[in-house]
Amino acid sequence: MKQGWEAVIGMEIHAQLATATKIFCGCAVETGGEPNSNTCPVCLGLPGALPVLNEKAVELGSRAALALGLEIQAESNFARKNYFYPDLPKGYQISQYDRPFSANGRLTIMTAERDGHGHATEWKPMEVHIQRMHLEEDAGKNVHEGLPDVNKYSYVDLNRAGTPLGEIVTSPDFRTSWQAYDYVNHVRRVLQWVGASDADMEKGNLRCEANVSVRRIGETTFNNKVELKNLNSVRFMQKAIEFEIERQIAAHEAGEPVNQETRLWDEKKNETRVMRSKEDAHDYRYFPEPDLQPLAVTAEFIEKVRARMPELPDAMRERFVETYQLGYADASHLVSHKDLAEYFETVARITANPKLAANWVLGEFTRELNNSGRAAAAVLVSAEDLAELIITVEAGKINNNQAKEVFAEMFATGKAAAAVIEERGFEQISDPSAIAAIVDGVIAANDANLAAYRGGNEKLFGFFVGQVMKASQGKANPKVVNDILKKRLG
Ligand SMILES: [Zn+2]
Repeated sequence: MKQGWEAVIGMEIHAQLATATKIFCGCAVETGGEPNSNTCPVCLGLPGALPVLNEKAVELGSRAALALGLEIQAESNFARKNYFYPDLPKGYQISQYDRPFSANGRLTIMTAERDGHGHATEWKPMEVHIQRMHLEEDAGKNVHEGLPDVNKYSYVDLNRAGTPLGEIVTSPDFRTSWQAYDYVNHVRRVLQWVGASDADMEKGNLRCEANVSVRRIGETTFNNKVELKNLNSVRFMQKAIEFEIERQIAAHEAGEPVNQETRLWDEKKNETRVMRSKEDAHDYRYFPEPDLQPLAVTAEFIEKVRARMPELPDAMRERFVETYQLGYADASHLVSHKDLAEYFETVARITANPKLAANWVLGEFTRELNNSGRAAAAVLVSAEDLAELIITVEAGKINNNQAKEVFAEMFATGKAAAAVIEERGFEQISDPSAIAAIVDGVIAANDANLAAYRGGNEKLFGFFVGQVMKASQGKANPKVVNDILKKRLG
């Protein structure tokens, strides 16, 4: 960022809550069906139809709120947000306004300094104030067909209308695009972790908007802000914010106005462009939804939800560092996905060797996982099978290189370690008399090298080790080979 300026960024995230049915009716929430097949009088907005709140949406909303450090309010209200758009059949959206479902969130995230390539250099904690997360229904979708302005048809698909959303709004706490990036990644992971949302930006079940303004350092008032939309990935969002910061600084310095407006990110041109001038809140004429009771959430209900919540990733990372003596970076990698963290922990428990378990899970396992493009949950090698392999290596039955080969085969076929070891004939030879016989054969066949070694060329020791390993087809226990060679070569 240009010297003397700072950015002021607030984030709004819409997360689709992972319910099976919609928030105010029994229609299924699913993607890919025939347009308008999952609809009923309620979500079509037909006269006389009445909404009924889905308790599962409240439960998942509660999970999300607790995971984000928000206080769930004992009582909240639904409100009508009025606007006209073809994908909104009632002419209003049922949302929450002055009495949201949850508020006053204090969330600590880790955020990194980055080098010019965007690589994290140093991670630091940052406290984010989440003002609120309220519950609301999603609108439908307008589907456009044909070339722009030529033979263009527009259709309305209401399958998505009435899907439950949590809208998560922060204070303008972020000063750089990377802080916003780290925040969205944190929220995404935590929502997936507690099962509140699939939080997949590509599928549109996590959507984020950034409110961006800039000011000279030392200024305490805010300049006009721009709302950025159409951010289809966290990386595009970061780029869009970065572009917008530079655009606004240039405009202020040139004495040009920065309008309060909504801009879209154009990922082909790498720039933002105007979508519309921003409405103010009063344009929506919010008023309390007369068809729904206030939402009362008891302390008992909250405790029930809390009791079923999994350990959160930050707490798990701390525990891995303390209990297993793992480094911060390794522990952070392991908690990057819940499946991976649970996989590691099972391997660590069975092998009783957390360091080695972490090495395997972050090394061979992650390498094969990345190559296969699979998710950790869909992997054929169970944590129990990997643990068995590690125990076999530790017992000296096979060596490390053999173990890597065995693991690759296990990963590809799902076979157990013992089966692959037997098939490949990898059983390690540790019997000293058997190895001594091989050593003697190698020495007898390499007179010249033996003389050179005894004449002082100590580097040839490695040559003999290699020959013995080769003669044993890689099965000899390298430690025993070393011991016997040292004695024999003198
Ligand atoms: Zn419906």
